Amino acid sequence: MIRKTIILDLYTDEPAGLGVPPYINTWPRLVAGAIWMENKEVDIRYYTIDEVRRDMGSFIRHAEASDILVVIGSVEVPGKYIGGRPGTIDEAERILMLITRPLKILVGPAARYGFGSGGGAIASSRNTLAKIFDEMIVGDPEIFFSELMRYGFEKADPRKTRINYELADKAFVKGAKIIMMHPNHGKNLVVEIETYRGCPRYISGGCSFCIEPRWGKPIQRSPRSIIEEVEALYRYGARHIRLGRQPDILVYGSKEIGDKEFPKPNPEILEKLFYGIRNVAPGLRILHIDNVNPGTIVHHPRESLEALKTIINYHSPGDVAALGIESFDEKVVKTNNLKVYPDDAVKAIEIINRVGRIRGWNGLPHLLPGINLLYGLPGETKETYRINYDYLKTIYDKNLLVRRINIRQVTILENTPLWLRMDMVKNILRRHKGLFKTYRHRIMSELDRKFLEKIVPPGTILDYLYVEKHIRNLSIARMPGSYPITVKIPYIIALWKIISARIRSIAAKSVTGDPIGA
Ligand code: SF4
Repeated sequence: MIRKTIILDLYTDEPAGLGVPPYINTWPRLVAGAIWMENKEVDIRYYTIDEVRRDMGSFIRHAEASDILVVIGSVEVPGKYIGGRPGTIDEAERILMLITRPLKILVGPAARYGFGSGGGAIASSRNTLAKIFDEMIVGDPEIFFSELMRYGFEKADPRKTRINYELADKAFVKGAKIIMMHPNHGKNLVVEIETYRGCPRYISGGCSFCIEPRWGKPIQRSPRSIIEEVEALYRYGARHIRLGRQPDILVYGSKEIGDKEFPKPNPEILEKLFYGIRNVAPGLRILHIDNVNPGTIVHHPRESLEALKTIINYHSPGDVAALGIESFDEKVVKTNNLKVYPDDAVKAIEIINRVGRIRGWNGLPHLLPGINLLYGLPGETKETYRINYDYLKTIYDKNLLVRRINIRQVTILENTPLWLRMDMVKNILRRHKGLFKTYRHRIMSELDRKFLEKIVPPGTILDYLYVEKHIRNLSIARMPGSYPITVKIPYIIALWKIISARIRSIAAKSVTGDPIGA
């Protein structure tokens, strides 16, 4: 009989879905929801890894009093984080060695694809993880935990995956309450929402490095169930929502999803979803999106434009459509079955700029593209670095706005085509190590700053910034939401104060500002 459960969130960062503070991902909500669905009396405690680092004693005490310990990880698409430091597998192992009583269960991308820990790395294989955990949930957590509660540990199936959202929808609503235990609750917490799972490009195999198409045919949630979840989250205090857990928000609700590699957007369904969310959560401060497939925009420019306009009607400004362009080198695009060729990628950026660059209430353009570039892929040569740089420069010279350029090295994950070409990828990563560093620095110092200068020229006033951190004598403030601009204030302001700031100067990845009225 399960009376007490403890959840340890090492944080997750996936191609679709972020769970590093200030974000909370879907995993802890699904686990808690599935347990509370079966027995609402179960005492569930949620800890982030940063909380455990601060007070290991309290965590261990609660863990030893629990029947199950659920560990959630890992970082499959690594980034740089201000809000928290993801836990590694070594760290998790050290903590878990101190805990004897509860069953140890691994949930999240780590259980399915191994434990990613940084770009240019190979995820630790699931065989290694099997020595640390009693069970690894390769399937969906709401199914496993619901079965565990009903039939016991021996009979719960860790491999079952959902074929529709019936159970998950209920778990999402029941588990919404867990957000109140997140350390960022009541402050800048952003709740990541899932709208569908799987990539429509599974038809062609998808991109070589990506885990999303491995789900097979995508399944979608109904607007009504997403709205009900947001209503529950709002009731428990969520004020910042991101519809980020899907490969491409533009095609949510498309009738062609599952049949076409590049389905046609369905702006009416998006209207229904966004209108419904605003209706049940009228005091929402931030409503953002994340990934957009540039291939959708070039295949369906008219419908995409309508879909983008619909989003802009309801969302909050400062929003970012992250475009996984990955490479502007045609050879790399072809070898890895990427979604878009370089000139088409530029077209997609132009189309987003057409509707997105108007400024909104918080001083930021409404919706700008972000560019993701990935290095280490098969087909990459030294020339790739020059080609990518030249395309970025062309985009800048065309006076297009780009919120940020995200440059990463590929992580080789189990169950992806890259796993089979591991030696080749390792070789490319090794050979181009220096080149990667040089170009990354060049892009950051030459282009990032210039793009940022266009978005927030000195004198711009930015509103609704949370003071999140102090670094030496600086206060770091950001808006909650998608890829927020880091504003450095040159003196100490109380943590979690909400401020406005006038931008004074621009650096590559951040700006310096003077607070107004603080
Ligand atoms: S388009 Fe490529 S990167 Fe995006 S989800 Fe699909 S397979 Fe993954």
